[in-house]
Amino acid sequence: MTTLFISDLHLEASRPEIGEQFLSFLEGEAAGAEALYILGDLFDSWIGDDDPNPHFAVMKGAIRDLVDSGVPVYFMHGNRDFLIGDRFSEETGVTLLDDPETVDLYGEQVLLSHGDALCIDDVQYQQVRLMTRSAEWKEMFQAKTLQERIAFAEDARQKSKAYNETVGDDIMDVNQDAVVGTFRNRGIDILLHGHTHRPAIHDVILKDRSAKRIVLGDWYEQGSVLRWDENGPRLEVLPR
Ligand code: MN
Repeated sequence: MTTLFISDLHLEASRPEIGEQFLSFLEGEAAGAEALYILGDLFDSWIGDDDPNPHFAVMKGAIRDLVDSGVPVYFMHGNRDFLIGDRFSEETGVTLLDDPETVDLYGEQVLLSHGDALCIDDVQYQQVRLMTRSAEWKEMFQAKTLQERIAFAEDARQKSKAYNETVGDDIMDVNQDAVVGTFRNRGIDILLHGHTHRPAIHDVILKDRSAKRIVLGDWYEQGSVLRWDENGPRLEVLPR
């Protein structure tokens, strides 16, 4: 049996082809999997579990069908959908994971993360991250009306796009010291994350051993999946 990992689909109604591919993936390969892990940014934005967005409702229904068929689905927040909460979990049947979280995969201890917390060279982003993850900020945001939250999310997306164009590529990648520190502090040999949209399997040389950092790809132009079974991990493209 195979365990599947995906992240960074950035589902939104204006890009229906991504949603179509996700639905095919859930009904096809995922239906025969041992488990499915979604490591964040499944949605391009999430303004609250009460959002009646019909595109998202279809996606939630398909996840529910997969869970009901007997495939466990685990979800970790990304920086776009960090407001996903208990109601989403109840509606879809997914299990919410902390970031980071260690799982045992066929005898290997693997640390799962969305990945944005490792991008510490982007100081401005980390400040925003710290603020928006606070209980105070979430409370303030969730007290707004649906319309206000939709407008806020749209504004935040525009600002994020403009900001990303001004920041260098290396700044938006993970920081090597943060990566090495994570391996050292957590005592694990494999780190699996998304967020950077740079799919690859990197060897990381530590003082006492060599470790692996596996990066999932985004779904903008094609799908990306990590298939893991008793023979180890395989990072593969899902042609659209
Ligand atoms: Mn992300």
